[in-house]
Amino acid sequence: MTSDPVSPPAHRHRRSHTGLGMLVWLGIYVAAVTIPLFALLPGAASAQAGFRWDFAVALGYAGLAMLGVQFALTARFRRATAPFGIDIVYYFHRYLALAALAIVAAHWLLLKLWYPDALGSADPRVAPPAMTAGRAALVLFALAAVLSLLRRRLHWDYDRWRALHALMATAALALALWHLFGTGRYLDSPWRQALWAACGATWIGLIGYVRLLRPWRVARTPWRVAVVRPERGRVWTLVLEPPAGVQLAFAPGQFAWLSLRSSPFAMREHPFSIASSAERLDQIELSIKELGDFTSTIRSVPVGETAWLDAPYGSFGIDWHPNAEGYVFIAGGIGIAPMLSMLRTLADRGERRPLTLFYGNRVWERVAFREELEALSQRLSLRVVHVLLEPPAEWEGGRGFITQEVLARHLPPAPAERARYEYFLCGPTPMTTAVERALASLGVPGARVHSEIFDWV
Ligand SMILES: Cc1cc2nc3c(=O)[nH]c(=O)nc-3n(C[C@H](O)[C@H](O)[C@H](O)COP(=O)(O)OP(=O)(O)OC[C@H]3O[C@@H](n4cnc5c(N)ncnc54)[C@H](O)[C@@H]3O)c2cc1C
Repeated sequence: MTSDPVSPPAHRHRRSHTGLGMLVWLGIYVAAVTIPLFALLPGAASAQAGFRWDFAVALGYAGLAMLGVQFALTARFRRATAPFGIDIVYYFHRYLALAALAIVAAHWLLLKLWYPDALGSADPRVAPPAMTAGRAALVLFALAAVLSLLRRRLHWDYDRWRALHALMATAALALALWHLFGTGRYLDSPWRQALWAACGATWIGLIGYVRLLRPWRVARTPWRVAVVRPERGRVWTLVLEPPAGVQLAFAPGQFAWLSLRSSPFAMREHPFSIASSAERLDQIELSIKELGDFTSTIRSVPVGETAWLDAPYGSFGIDWHPNAEGYVFIAGGIGIAPMLSMLRTLADRGERRPLTLFYGNRVWERVAFREELEALSQRLSLRVVHVLLEPPAEWEGGRGFITQEVLARHLPPAPAERARYEYFLCGPTPMTTAVERALASLGVPGARVHSEIFDWV
């Protein structure tokens, strides 16, 4: 974290997302994967074995380097994730894992086809241990990937899956490194061995950082649950107080990883948008919808309970786009949480620019924060457009989903004017996808549309 003893709320004007930042980090990724591989090329020891052999073995090294860097992708390094958004980095993690797995599988398959003698017997009783380690690593990597793809379909508990995933990936990496150093192909010079040993140490160091160092830092700052407040629509607001002398400086729209009733070392933290104003740092608020195992327990959290926060994360919010002529917020259900933080912050900053909030819900009685939104519309130049799926008979607001027609009715009629606003979307994925399409049809440039996704893991 994060809970930085003296951080001022200095996030008012954040840098915009730049393509340059993305290019730099993509370059670092490509270098981290390819440099250890190309370092093996000059005067390759087995040149006599020919291209096919080199190629098949190189696939193993390349796949391992990619899998090692996978640990960096989920280490939540703020600088590295900021230009893309943490959700996109997790998508990278997922798809690159599949690509790496395919490369490692090709390594094994090509050797099996072209050099069956080099592979030898698969029987662990007779095979050299380093070869068995390689086979076991491949099976574990494949299992970790398949279980991740099937997790939702198998209705696996997220926390249990995550612990198993981490365990399998760590064991697979250790076995793969054993295979690499045990078979010794291409690592015939001390500096090559040193380079690959450094890579292995970095990957294992990343695991240590994620599982030990960062939780230890989070555990040093215990927060206190000051209030548990019921809201409409089975939403509960947790008001959290930092220890004396600590302030969490954040930008409105960012989120925190929350651990409650379990230590930060237990890998049971959940992400929640910070819903409170970024201009009030004596307390922070998280508004949590009852949806599953963890979120259903929020209502029974006792006041005084200790909470741990790893925060702030994310680059979704108005502070990355300070020069817009106005802001449009489009929320579905609990997607209101980051919008609330932005609206509360704007109100505290005395904002005068035009603001519009489209807020989709099922029924009027369960529209969380509707009274406060009404009050905010008095303090700000804010228009709130409620859209209900099941409106009461006398309802005069929007009906159904937030469609292109609903948007067009309340946004400025001139496309040039619409294009000067920044648009923030948060809600169920089908909603954000449909609204992104509708905004594009209304002539809003894609660069002006920012979506926060709650179900990327
Ligand atoms: C950036 C971000 C901000 C969010 N902000 C809010 C918010 O302000 N308010 C709110 O109510 N919800 C928010 N969510 C969603 C919230 O994190 C999930 O609803 C919650 O973690 C579900 O946990 P559960 O055990 O109750 O549900 P379950 O039924 O066990 O899980 C439902 C789904 O939630 C996801 N999930 C479960 N546990 C975790 C975990 N430990 N880490 C990550 N994902 C998990 C998985 O995709 C899982 O399939 C946010 C999610 C993200 C990614």
